Amino acid sequence: MTFKSHMARALAEARAAADRGEVPVGAVVVSPAGEVVAAAGNRTRELNDPTAHAEVLAIRAACEAAGSERLVGHDLYVTLEPCPMCASVISQARIARLYYGAADPKSGGVAQGPRVFSHPQSHHVPEIYDGIAADEAEALLKAFFGERR
Ligand SMILES: [Zn+2]
Repeated sequence: MTFKSHMARALAEARAAADRGEVPVGAVVVSPAGEVVAAAGNRTRELNDPTAHAEVLAIRAACEAAGSERLVGHDLYVTLEPCPMCASVISQARIARLYYGAADPKSGGVAQGPRVFSHPQSHHVPEIYDGIAADEAEALLKAFFGERR
């Protein structure tokens, strides 16, 4: 199977989140067959739910579609480095490959902060590919936070 990046779809979700007044982060879950099974953007404000990050919402929807609490062989694309909560969910869902865009020095939990996947308590570690379309993801975040200042 040839590799196809789904980051463009994740960026579209991030843009839609910004339009809703949410922090522009988008995520997509792709099945082992290469199909997009879930896509989501942040909805923490809309749902009054601090756990409603794009990754969590996309993983929830994908699990429901799969009828399973685990997403073995699935890939996750997210525009921003996952926070520690999302990194833990990614591990618990057994996501096979994680593709992310911009690094998040402030709240990231993969390459910085608690480095969840490097922790001995991490039961499952996905393959990780970072910096995918990072410039575009970063520009969205900068524009969003710039406008709110
Ligand atoms: Zn998160």
